[in-house]
Amino acid sequence: MDVFLTSPWIPPEWVRAHGLQPRGIWAAENLQRLPCPLSAGVCAFAESAVRFAQSRAESAAVFSTACDQMRRAFDAAIFRGQRQAFLFNLPATWQTAAAGQILRSELERLGRFLLAMGGRAPSPEQLWLEMLQAGRTRKLLLESARASSSRGFAEAVARFHWDGSFSPPPPAAPADQIPLALVGGPFLASHWKWLDALEAAGGRVALDATEMGELSLAPPLESETVAKDPFDTLFRGCLDNTIGVFQRPNARLYSWLKPRLASRQARGIVLWHFTGCDLWRAEAPTLRETFGLPVLLLEACAEPGAAPRDLNRLQAFVETLR
Ligand code: SF4
Repeated sequence: MDVFLTSPWIPPEWVRAHGLQPRGIWAAENLQRLPCPLSAGVCAFAESAVRFAQSRAESAAVFSTACDQMRRAFDAAIFRGQRQAFLFNLPATWQTAAAGQILRSELERLGRFLLAMGGRAPSPEQLWLEMLQAGRTRKLLLESARASSSRGFAEAVARFHWDGSFSPPPPAAPADQIPLALVGGPFLASHWKWLDALEAAGGRVALDATEMGELSLAPPLESETVAKDPFDTLFRGCLDNTIGVFQRPNARLYSWLKPRLASRQARGIVLWHFTGCDLWRAEAPTLRETFGLPVLLLEACAEPGAAPRDLNRLQAFVETLR
């Protein structure tokens, strides 16, 4: 059975260890059949998640409480008939023992849900194997990030989130393109054409810091020697490596960005956000002030072909950085 995940912070190896197939819905090629949500103020990604879950009622869907929109999307999915849905309470803090306890018990509760969906109880050895495999693939992706084409890297990460596989992304074209950081919310298959437009304009993504890009690739396990308690290692990895705009404070996000923006020599930041996503949109002034880089806001609804105005803004942004 497919288990569709709406958040990159829910560990796919935990699902796979139960004998089920985790799939990040953001990697689905047909996630956004309609260009924009019709309901004012609703995040198009959250709305697409509801529609997608509704259309796959035979599968399971896992939502998270990372934001109010996604929390509400879970309710809407249930109202619309998706009975095999799970709401993962993702703590917005990590600093206290209570936050850790919530995360651990949510992973255990998710495990019980997966068993109810027909999964098998994972042995520690099986879980460890899945963790090793996922960790190795994340490592390969992280190692290829610097030298890959913008679109090729986005596609390779999406493939990992869809079926766990790794296919080496094509190398970046050797050119004097302006290195930029792409920071923000879900970057879907339907948005990849933005990356072609960016490269055509003379820029390139030197750092993909979208939620489903490098931000979603936790560092590999410190040791491949089988852990005494693989579940505990999984839990601690989630606690240490969940880095998101929804966390309070969101200092982890800025600590993660700082060395990477410097080492990739990013000259500007493209802040990618869905219409209705106040969480990411609100970061624009702080990103500017913290890193002293110019920030261009782009809305996910607008695609290059459909919104020449946004394409012009992107071209002008790259041009001003020359
Ligand atoms: S894009 Fe923003 S509003 Fe939409 S689900 Fe993600 S965090 Fe929530």
